[in-house]
Amino acid sequence: MITLEGITKVYKNGPLEVQALMPLDLHIEKGEFVAIMGSSGSGKSTLMNIIGCLDIPTAGSYELDGDPVQSLSEEELSRVRNRKIGFVFQSFNLLGRQTVLQNVTLPMMYAGISREKRNERALELLGRVGLAERVKHRPNELSGGQKQRVAIARALTMNAPILLADEPTGNLDTKSSYEIMELFKEIHADGTTIVLVTHEPDIAEHADRIITFGDGRILSDKRKGSVSL
Ligand code: ADP
Ligand code: MG
Repeated sequence: MITLEGITKVYKNGPLEVQALMPLDLHIEKGEFVAIMGSSGSGKSTLMNIIGCLDIPTAGSYELDGDPVQSLSEEELSRVRNRKIGFVFQSFNLLGRQTVLQNVTLPMMYAGISREKRNERALELLGRVGLAERVKHRPNELSGGQKQRVAIARALTMNAPILLADEPTGNLDTKSSYEIMELFKEIHADGTTIVLVTHEPDIAEHADRIITFGDGRILSDKRKGSVSL
């Protein structure tokens, strides 16, 4: 599903250069639930943005579900991203002036899906994440955990095969974090490939495979119930 080979990332700001990713190889199969764990500044978000086609690597090759990402045009890349990737962020990234329902229907509006169909799909997803009673509320009327549920429902609208989550529990208390991880497990059980970034070992434990990251490198790569790879 995801194959990275020799991926590096160097950020250049004038004469300043930061090498955020060292040459890195990573393969993630369809249907995996992977946690990438590492301290702040270790390059986790840089890697996620490359996997999510939000940023391009400095070098290396990336194949996403059969598509050679590095040789796609901007237009093809944005199509691949919209079709294949759902993204969830630490800060939820909801639109404050829009209702919960509107926030969830937005990606479908961009995709040209009719109002009737997008409302139907959004209501179905909001029911699934336990927010059927909150569809007319605005984000500032919700708890952190509820906001993240809205963001997850929005990420699922296009039936993307891959869900990427960058510190999705970073702004949540322990109980809400646990509930969000239970929701990710349900989504994974339905067949979605999930890659989740966290700096918290307790959160990473929910995944089937834990990749530990440090200074832009993979330090360890372990599958549940097996020895180190
Ligand atoms: P993490 O998500 O693990 O905290 P990041 O991927 O955000 O780590 O950052 C990795 C390194 O790259 C850090 O040293 C950070 O300061 C640097 N970095 C991240 N984004 C940029 C940027 N846009 N410009 C310059 N340096 C950056
Ligand atoms: Mg980060």
